[in-house]
Amino acid sequence: MAVIKREGVYKDLMEVGWFNWLVKRRGLQFTLQFIGLAAFGVIVYAGFFGTPAGGENVASTFTWLIWWTLIPVTMLVAARVWCLICPWIAPGEWLQRLTFWQKGKRTLCLNLKVPRFMRNFWLMLVFFLILHWADASFHLALFPETTVYLALGMFAIAIVISLIFEKRSFCKYFCPIGAIIAPYSLVAPIELRNKDPEVCRSCKTRDCFKGNEKGYACPMMTHPYDFNIDERGYAPCRVACPAGVNSDGYIALISEGKFKEAFELHKQTMPFAGVCGRVCTHPCETHCERAKVDEPVSIRGLKRFMADYGLSLNGEKPTPIEKTKEDKVAIIGSGPAGLACAYDLIRQGYPVTVFEAAPKAGGLLRYGIPEYRLPKEILDNEISYIEELGVEIKIHTPVKDLGNMFNQGYKAVFLGIGAGTSQKMSIPNEDAKGIIHALDFLKQVGSGEKVELGNRVGIIGGGNAAIDAARLALRLGVKEVSIIYRRSRAEMPAIRTEVEEAEREGVKIHFLAAPVRILTEDNRLTGIQCIRMELGAPDADGRRRPIPIEGSEFNMNLDNVIIAIGQQVNGAMVLKELEYTDWGTIAADPLTRQTSIEAVFAGGDVVAGPADVIGAIADGKEAAISIERYLSGVDLKEGRSPIRRVEELSPEPLEVKSRSVMPVCELAKRGSFNEVELGFKEKTAIDEARRCWQCGVGSDGIDRNTHCVLCTECVKTCPNDNISINIRKPFHDIFKKGMGFLRTRDITLSLSVIAIVLLGVIPFHNLEMTVAYTSLEGNLAGGLGIPQMIIRTAAFLMMGVIAVSIFWGFSSLARWRAGDTQYSTKHIFIWFALAFIPLAISLHVAHNYFHLLEEGAVIIPNLSDPFGFGWNLFGTAGASVTILSSNLISIFQFLTVGLGFLASGYVLYRLPLNMFKERVQAFRTMIPMVVLLIGLVTFYLWVLTIPMAMRF
Ligand code: FAD
Repeated sequence: MAVIKREGVYKDLMEVGWFNWLVKRRGLQFTLQFIGLAAFGVIVYAGFFGTPAGGENVASTFTWLIWWTLIPVTMLVAARVWCLICPWIAPGEWLQRLTFWQKGKRTLCLNLKVPRFMRNFWLMLVFFLILHWADASFHLALFPETTVYLALGMFAIAIVISLIFEKRSFCKYFCPIGAIIAPYSLVAPIELRNKDPEVCRSCKTRDCFKGNEKGYACPMMTHPYDFNIDERGYAPCRVACPAGVNSDGYIALISEGKFKEAFELHKQTMPFAGVCGRVCTHPCETHCERAKVDEPVSIRGLKRFMADYGLSLNGEKPTPIEKTKEDKVAIIGSGPAGLACAYDLIRQGYPVTVFEAAPKAGGLLRYGIPEYRLPKEILDNEISYIEELGVEIKIHTPVKDLGNMFNQGYKAVFLGIGAGTSQKMSIPNEDAKGIIHALDFLKQVGSGEKVELGNRVGIIGGGNAAIDAARLALRLGVKEVSIIYRRSRAEMPAIRTEVEEAEREGVKIHFLAAPVRILTEDNRLTGIQCIRMELGAPDADGRRRPIPIEGSEFNMNLDNVIIAIGQQVNGAMVLKELEYTDWGTIAADPLTRQTSIEAVFAGGDVVAGPADVIGAIADGKEAAISIERYLSGVDLKEGRSPIRRVEELSPEPLEVKSRSVMPVCELAKRGSFNEVELGFKEKTAIDEARRCWQCGVGSDGIDRNTHCVLCTECVKTCPNDNISINIRKPFHDIFKKGMGFLRTRDITLSLSVIAIVLLGVIPFHNLEMTVAYTSLEGNLAGGLGIPQMIIRTAAFLMMGVIAVSIFWGFSSLARWRAGDTQYSTKHIFIWFALAFIPLAISLHVAHNYFHLLEEGAVIIPNLSDPFGFGWNLFGTAGASVTILSSNLISIFQFLTVGLGFLASGYVLYRLPLNMFKERVQAFRTMIPMVVLLIGLVTFYLWVLTIPMAMRF
């Protein structure tokens, strides 16, 4: 999940010298694997030919010893350290890469993706455990070579899978041991963390999961610091955001009611949540997968909610960041591009100074976008945050000489000077009285200056500036406001919702019309002559070109005209030393944002031309990476490829749920400069966030806890030495979640785990007794009674019903408490009641059984059938009952019960994907406890078989 603050229990294992030394030497891993392989060979030999110490059965004993002691115990102590030495995967891995000591370039692997339907196969072990419980081990103990065949089969499968599929697919999807390993890492005391999230965030090399010359990269393709990257790529919303904001991350946190955490997560990428939550052009929403089914998630609305929440906390001021670097950086222009660049650089310890020509910082955010869309308080708050971190902003300081910057000791310069000059129309009388350019108009109003307008105002243009100017004119008391735009509504570049609101407020839009002449009397505007247009073929930017319709001219009487046809770079502010494009913008490398001067970088509108806020922020961030690299002497381009989108999303059919509507101020109350959009309330925000499909995580996506194999490849490959392995208290995560049960949905996790463990044990125990009782009864009656197999299957099903019912009960309770209107007390009652029915039955049977014991029955395990339920009973009747009497019955049981469990397994496999769709996380937390329980009990029973097995 998001970066979680480390608790006191964490101790960095990498700080332990010898461990650090061992981890960084990949030879160690291979040495251990050789030993593992040698041991494996001995077992195979013993399995076929026996040993001087005993018969072939030694192989079985030895294998099961490893299986049930070594692996579970090492897992508890050291999570998946087993995987480091796993003998099964080693040959496949070596063949796959054609090398085993260093990272190799050649490979035999076909690199195919594992088909989706074959994933989650690790659940195999759960079935295997149950199978084992149901006599399979008895069979294996009788026929030791079966064990060897099993082990060799796994070996062969591992090799084949490795050669066909991409890296470590065997581990990830097919290894039955992985079923134990994955859940164990939830409770294991060792885990992987990044030391400083910020270093990871700004690194961008992704060496840790792509690999480099130092190592292979993450075998599980997990990003060690971020939860929403999986082998399928990043969520589309995140990929679409030019600034790479982790939207699916903060949305997931909002959906859990973790608003503060969501806000903090957002700050890791950039500081403008309040600004972007209001004015962002939200490409993330355009690419939201949900739009394919109903409507995109209101990502911008959620961002605004989270930012407002953060602001309402009125938290402590941030601690200024220590300037650890010596090289000073100058940023020219305090628009979003400049400030984003400053924010990223100060967090890396660089002394940063921002030079701003205007009286206040913010660029067009302050002097362009009007107050009713972006209150100055929000902007001021976010700029103050950047200043509090240590960025110095010098206002009233226009920079006209770049050389002077270097003379003042700055080692690198970022230019974010925007395109803050209105474009001219180049038609006669453009300077007549009554004509004003949009940016001047917006700037004057934004600075509190008085602007006189007549009753009829025409605005020429179709971008955000045109719409803002029109709505602003209405607020200044203008009676008739018309927009003249030469293309159709579909081509209008302004934000769609803003256009709709403008029309609701009374702005009239004349589409497919363009001014040809300005009408004046004594150089005073009286109106404009327009011509109607039609759309022709698309032009260079893909929009259809408007073509004038001859003879369609018409006049409009107007008192003022506001020209809003675009902006350009201010010629007076241009820094002569640089190279420019034909459009008058600064020429900069699209990847690094480096200009024609080595130490000068540029971004935002001054490079792109008039664009948008998020694009400017993205430029600032990329330039910050380049400046960091430039000052550290690192190649500017290496490893900077765009992040990969999840390739294929085939969401299971989901219920259609429409998008939450952003509440807006009533029309009658909009006369002032009050904000029009009002923002979501808490409940709406949670509901809206829960609409998110979390494409980047998905049901078979990455969960850091369950997918990391602790192979330490990332530790080796990290270029910043920023990944550590930590020791935590065992069961830390689960207890932590349990402690938080009073907090909304955490109750789902904590209580369901406790319930499953407690109540799961009781019926299991009782059901065994049911079998014993039945056996005794059957014996007393002179026969076998009810076939044991049916009872076992019933027992299994009963346990499943109890577990699922209780899980659903607590889940419903949690949702009901969290205010989810879809859940009522009725649901909770129903689920718990369902759970109690089988519980009551088993308790009743147990009661009868105890009654029998009181009569003098004694129970001891039957060593010839240790894994089954065929207990010997010596009681009042003095008889012994062994249900399993022949191998034939055993094989029959093996097959029938196996098939039953396969069917159940299929249901289990579907459960997390469908029925528990939204509860996957909770379900995952439950699984390890169940597996742990079954594993330990099975191990206990197995120990009882050793003397028996050795006797064969
Ligand atoms: P700017 O924001 O223009 O900042 C440049 C700064 O550099 C200014 O403060 C300027 O004073 C300063 N400067 C210039 N030269 C010098 C110099 N020589 N020395 C020192 N300082 C200097 N985008 C959206 O995403 N959503 C919207 O809803 C939206 N609405 C808009 C509405 C209007 C009316 C306008 C005009 C634009 C709108 N935009 C919108 C676009 C967005 O505001 C810009 O794309 C963005 O602000 C560009 O950021 P920037 O940092 O490149 O430049």
